[in-house]
Amino acid sequence: MRRNAGELAKMRKAGRVVAEIHEATRAVIRPGVTTAAIDRVARQVIERRGATSNFLGYHGFPAVICTSPNSMIVHGIPSEHVVLAEGDIISIDCGAIIEGYHGDAAYTVGVGQVSAEATRLMEVTEASLYAGIDQLVPGNRLHEVGRAVQKVAEAAGYSVVREYVGHAIGTAMHEEPQVPNYWPGSPGPALRPGMVFAIEPMVNVGGPGTVTLEDGWSVVTEDGSLSAHFEHTIAVTDDGPEIFTVP
Ligand code: MG
Ligand code: MG
Repeated sequence: MRRNAGELAKMRKAGRVVAEIHEATRAVIRPGVTTAAIDRVARQVIERRGATSNFLGYHGFPAVICTSPNSMIVHGIPSEHVVLAEGDIISIDCGAIIEGYHGDAAYTVGVGQVSAEATRLMEVTEASLYAGIDQLVPGNRLHEVGRAVQKVAEAAGYSVVREYVGHAIGTAMHEEPQVPNYWPGSPGPALRPGMVFAIEPMVNVGGPGTVTLEDGWSVVTEDGSLSAHFEHTIAVTDDGPEIFTVP
């Protein structure tokens, strides 16, 4: 689906709210903070900006952000019982709706001082996101994104998660087509100006396998290895990729 200039303007606004949630949540992440407290900070930004949450109530999800520490890949539920500790890494995924249009983005950050391996994992995962974003140019094929992401992650000795993928985004958070973070075997649809995607590599230090915990949401690495997640919402334009989820 291609969005017109008016729609893109709304998505740009939604993206800025998401970027502001990132900024505000990052500022409170430190040892001793609960993931529920981080969710409250995100709720304040959404309220202040007159936005609504696309996470809250999504298939019954109870919060406005997902908080996924260490070996948790995605979809962690904020809790008063999850207290961040020095050396943890934490992935924050969130979104916002403005005038019916969605933004969606995620980042992973260290809590205090983290290991060299954790730092490298976060750097590689973010680099893989930007390698994917670079592919979002008119005339290119969508699934070159996954090929580029996978190349960066695997060159570092890491693996990309298969079960959870990026997606088109607009008047719904998750629209078709999906955007895998790996080469799916064929190049997918041609990219045109006005298309908007959420690109979101999830990269594991160990194998790509995943397990969903008993809460029905939290997804962890099968082998217990660390996992990182970075995401932006990006439009394809004649001038190249435009990232909406930045300040
Ligand atoms: Mg997301
Ligand atoms: Mg997403």
